[in-house]
Amino acid sequence: MPSKVYRSPYPDIKIESVDLVKYLFSNPFNTPLNKPIFVDAQSERQYTFGDVIQRTRSLANGLQQNFELKPNEIVALFSPNTIEYPLACYSIIGSGAILAPTSAALTPLELNAQLKTSGARLIIVHSTLLETARKAVKGTSVEKIILLDGPSPVDGQATCEYLATTSTPAPLKEISPREASTKTIFICFSSGTSGPSKGVITTHQNLTSNLQQWRAHMMDSGQPSQQVKRNAAIAFLPFSHIYGLNLYMCQCLIWGATVVIMPRFDLDTYLGCIEKYRPDELALVPPIALMMVKDPRVKKYDLSSVKHILSAAAPLTNELSSALEAKFKELCDTEVFCTQSWGLTETSPMATAIPNNRMDKRESGVGCITHNMEFRFVDPETMEDAATKSDGSTEPAEIWCRGPNVTQGYYNNEDATKGAFHVDPDGTKWFRTGDIGVIDKEGYVTIQDRIKEMIKYKGLQVVPSELEGKLIDHPDVEDAGVVGMWVDEMATELPVGFVVLSGQARGREIANHKRLRGGIHVLDQIPKSPSGKILRRQLKEILKSKKLKA
Ligand code: AMP
Repeated sequence: MPSKVYRSPYPDIKIESVDLVKYLFSNPFNTPLNKPIFVDAQSERQYTFGDVIQRTRSLANGLQQNFELKPNEIVALFSPNTIEYPLACYSIIGSGAILAPTSAALTPLELNAQLKTSGARLIIVHSTLLETARKAVKGTSVEKIILLDGPSPVDGQATCEYLATTSTPAPLKEISPREASTKTIFICFSSGTSGPSKGVITTHQNLTSNLQQWRAHMMDSGQPSQQVKRNAAIAFLPFSHIYGLNLYMCQCLIWGATVVIMPRFDLDTYLGCIEKYRPDELALVPPIALMMVKDPRVKKYDLSSVKHILSAAAPLTNELSSALEAKFKELCDTEVFCTQSWGLTETSPMATAIPNNRMDKRESGVGCITHNMEFRFVDPETMEDAATKSDGSTEPAEIWCRGPNVTQGYYNNEDATKGAFHVDPDGTKWFRTGDIGVIDKEGYVTIQDRIKEMIKYKGLQVVPSELEGKLIDHPDVEDAGVVGMWVDEMATELPVGFVVLSGQARGREIANHKRLRGGIHVLDQIPKSPSGKILRRQLKEILKSKKLKA
């Protein structure tokens, strides 16, 4: 029997396979060259659209001349969000090289592992993270640490900011449409469905397709929020994650939006920036949505510009989205629509969204399959298509997907790549997302669970196997297992550890967001399959049982 395939309800769009930087600089909405594009939230230092183009060309030339940056070489970027970050990103890609963005929260050991995975020869580092980077590069293929910020050379070595102002602007390397469909531009890190963190391959075509899918979604999906333009964005989501990377560094440039950059989240700064820069749309994650509902400080600011709120990266409940809409009504007497999108690093990232003309459906999940994508809903045990219920919706099942925005696999990791895809007998290849969802008869998707190992703390990935390694490292711990425990939208999902024999994890050796906030439980035995795989479902069951409360 042929597989049951669900297609996007939107008509396919003609997706051009194009060079990312060329696409970003193509200026489809005629943004004036003197419009501020990247603005520092604190100092208000800014780059206009003209500066962005000019400095990207200069920095690309400077990196090639001073650091012999070559096409297809990998450059890691280790920095919080700053106004220099996007310029470094465009220059690396515009030189034909590959960018491996790494979270600014990583410890030296965690960064060391990612550098080994990517095989980067150069690492661009923000000055505040230099010490961490120096420790992390030991034993890796990194030959040079380059400072991102600072107007003048340090220890005789040019910083990116210095190169961008002093090098001659040169033409960027152009990629042909054929090359764009296979050439890697980003290696972002994700644990995928299981095991340690892996480098997700994103090509020019993957990312530019997702930009075209978003653009089509915003332009074609009708009233009432069609008037929402990306005029400004307050950028606190990390640029190193695909959500921030796609939205702030790519989509906003297409729309000519002013991106106000926050290196880290701070509610007063955020609200002050909304008042000052008056964005139509806020892009956030559920804990920030909750803060906006609960924190009395929101009353002090004029938030009346906001028409639309987009949440992604973690589940947003109907209760919270309605409370947020009610809050805006109470504060500003405005009709704000709160919607959510679902996707993964591997889908570059948007795979579903709520059509603008179906705001009535916003409370039922993450929206419709986006343009040019196809999904299957498959029972992960039997590998059969999910049954359809009497109301026309499917039984809960794993979501498999395909489309131009879906990754080719994991960098230098054939086994993980093979495990991430299912190939139908007719050769059709599906990416297995590890998320459990349903689709209703109108084509609206709801996410219900996650069968993959990944834990998401406040929208940030936590890899259980990494924490299990840390626990086992302790002399008092013989065996360990880690699972996520959903608490609420503020706390989100907390990593909980199970250990055999007693002991305490060496929590100092992990990034702050990965700490075992859910607690550690001592068991006689970690449940495992005959092949030795940790049975995380059973650990979750133990957690749910009355005996154990974190
Ligand atoms: P990442 O690769 O870090 O973007 O993580 C992708 C994972 O985040 C997905 O596989 C989901 O488990 C989760 N996720 C993303 N968006 C949503 C959403 N709107 N609702 C529920 N889970 C989500």
